[in-house]
Amino acid sequence: MSKRRPIAWALLTGLLLAPPSLGIPIDDARLRAAGLETGNWLMYGRTHDENRFSPLDQIGERSTGRLGLAWSRELGTTRGLEATPLVEDGILYISGAWNLVYAIDARTGGILWHYDPKVQRSRALFLCCDAVNRGVALYRGKIYIGTLDGRLIALDQHTGKPVWDVSTADITKPYAISGAPRIARGMVVIGNGGAEYGVRGYVSAFDAQNGNLIWRTYTVPGDPANGFESKALEKAAQSWSGEWWKTGGGGPAWEGVVYDPALDLLYFGTGNPTAWYRALRGKGDALYTASILAVRAATGEIVWHFQTTPGDNWDYDATQPLVQAELSIRGRMRKIIMQANKNGFFYFLDRATGEFLSGKQFVSGVNWATGLNPRTGRPVEAKSFLESTEPMIVSPHPDGAHNWNPMAFSPTTGLVYVPAKSDSHMLHVPDMQWAYNPDKGNAGGDDFYEGPMADKDHAMSGPKGELVAWDPVRQRAAWRVRLPTASGGGVLATGGNLVFQGRADGILAAYRATDGKQLWSFDAGTGIMAPPVTYMVDGVQYVSVLAGWGGPTALFNPPGWGKMKSGFGRLLTFRLDGRAEFHPPPFGHQGPPPMPSFVEASPEQVHEGELLYGAHCAACHGINAVAGPLPDLRYAGKQTLEGIDSIVLAGSRASMGMPSFAKILDADQVRAIRAYIVSRARADAMAGARTP
Ligand code: CA
Repeated sequence: MSKRRPIAWALLTGLLLAPPSLGIPIDDARLRAAGLETGNWLMYGRTHDENRFSPLDQIGERSTGRLGLAWSRELGTTRGLEATPLVEDGILYISGAWNLVYAIDARTGGILWHYDPKVQRSRALFLCCDAVNRGVALYRGKIYIGTLDGRLIALDQHTGKPVWDVSTADITKPYAISGAPRIARGMVVIGNGGAEYGVRGYVSAFDAQNGNLIWRTYTVPGDPANGFESKALEKAAQSWSGEWWKTGGGGPAWEGVVYDPALDLLYFGTGNPTAWYRALRGKGDALYTASILAVRAATGEIVWHFQTTPGDNWDYDATQPLVQAELSIRGRMRKIIMQANKNGFFYFLDRATGEFLSGKQFVSGVNWATGLNPRTGRPVEAKSFLESTEPMIVSPHPDGAHNWNPMAFSPTTGLVYVPAKSDSHMLHVPDMQWAYNPDKGNAGGDDFYEGPMADKDHAMSGPKGELVAWDPVRQRAAWRVRLPTASGGGVLATGGNLVFQGRADGILAAYRATDGKQLWSFDAGTGIMAPPVTYMVDGVQYVSVLAGWGGPTALFNPPGWGKMKSGFGRLLTFRLDGRAEFHPPPFGHQGPPPMPSFVEASPEQVHEGELLYGAHCAACHGINAVAGPLPDLRYAGKQTLEGIDSIVLAGSRASMGMPSFAKILDADQVRAIRAYIVSRARADAMAGARTP
């Protein structure tokens, strides 16, 4: 046994509780055995198989009555927080809004260092889903973060000082990184997003030591006139129509990349094609969009693909977290990869070959497909949706039956705990006048964000958030907990027979893993999207979670989606007998909007403003001008309204994240938007309405 192997030492001595790392940097061996370092949480999903299961059981089903707050740390932001904290030797590493990185003392919550990559706030124009980041990677004394302006940065783990900083994308195009990097074979692997605007998706691997690019694998074919990068892409080109490359094609890997060191394969899901609608793109499966891909880690070569939504028409990205497990299927052990897809089906694949083993609806209300072909897994689309250019009420909603919020797999119960959404619907209408415009969104929907849609959405009733305990072998729910909110956050499963999950109304809850009985809860004061983690320091087990409400649901703010709590972002940490005081600062407007004092406008101008607002403003400032985390425009003062041209056209608040819309809107249109905002403020001032 080598002294350089603390894991082996821990195994042989039976000391599975928080073995110290003995100052050895995190190398490939430690990552492969990360599951044994119960004191730490070294990787995004804790281990390469990303089960998000910790065997720690000091906090268990019989001790939740003693669970309390150890400390909380305000981060001073109001945007969404999605990151998984990493933990090594009592230090937490987190990323927050606009990619700020923090090192925090797990015992006290004290900030040891922080780093601001100074992302240009004007990038907000090309962020579909808030200024979020899902976490950092930790390897050989460095911390790695991908940024919203497409950079990959290595920081010194102990000082937070940058070591290298490379661009991973042409940021004259709307690329952005929100996902956490992953480590494989001494490389940092990262994808990107932007399919709602028009990009060509790819995944890149960089040398962890110096940031040199090692390989790049595109997920969709480029312009055939330039030749194809691989046989796989040449083949994929046959599944497209028209001049798809002019929009970029889409298919970005905007969430996780998981690694199987034994097979030496990397797995990732890809996003929607650009535009969303088949009627606008033409026929074809549009490979390799809305697919799960396996690539050889050494070279990036595509080894297999499985397309979850061929010819996607509904924004059914296949980017939801992938979870690996070894399970016995009909008496034979198989290496499995699992995904609870946006499209409402739970996929169970052989990860060595990509063979489809089974798939089943894990939520209610799915109407776009009647099921999956039992042999191939190809969806059987509902006839009414095939080739339709008529308005369609489709379920799941583009936000998905499950989105980026990580699920957890407990090898003890054999269940996967999925943050799911049942009965989520959206009206889809392709805009047959759509033409690609690089300066704006290119989803191509006529209904997208428009004011009137809000009422239709409302009439459809909101989605129902659920925590689903899914038996992946039998493909059926063992239990379901119906949440009082439209969505629940990421999930943690533990050896204490517990499942932890936060939700939109700020409640963090612990459920019994075997039957879903809620055993404990805590009001974090701000909505939770991020997954909790657990670890041990000085013999004490802790649970930490980021609270910070944002992302598409909060920014889009759809009526009928249940209680959501915007507020200040914070990191909360719990332990047995924790007794820290908690008085979160109040957030938001406490009364109805003031009666606006000026601007008379014609009903026609207000109506034009409503349509423009829906198309260009609602995604951040809220449907019907009712906002959560970003400024609620109904409360805008006279000076702001008078200076609206300088804000919207000249970009006077670009440094605060409000970019210039000069390429999209003219001065008359901005006045119409102002007239609509004033009309909304007036109506709500008269009605005495309050902020949500
Ligand atoms: Ca998408």
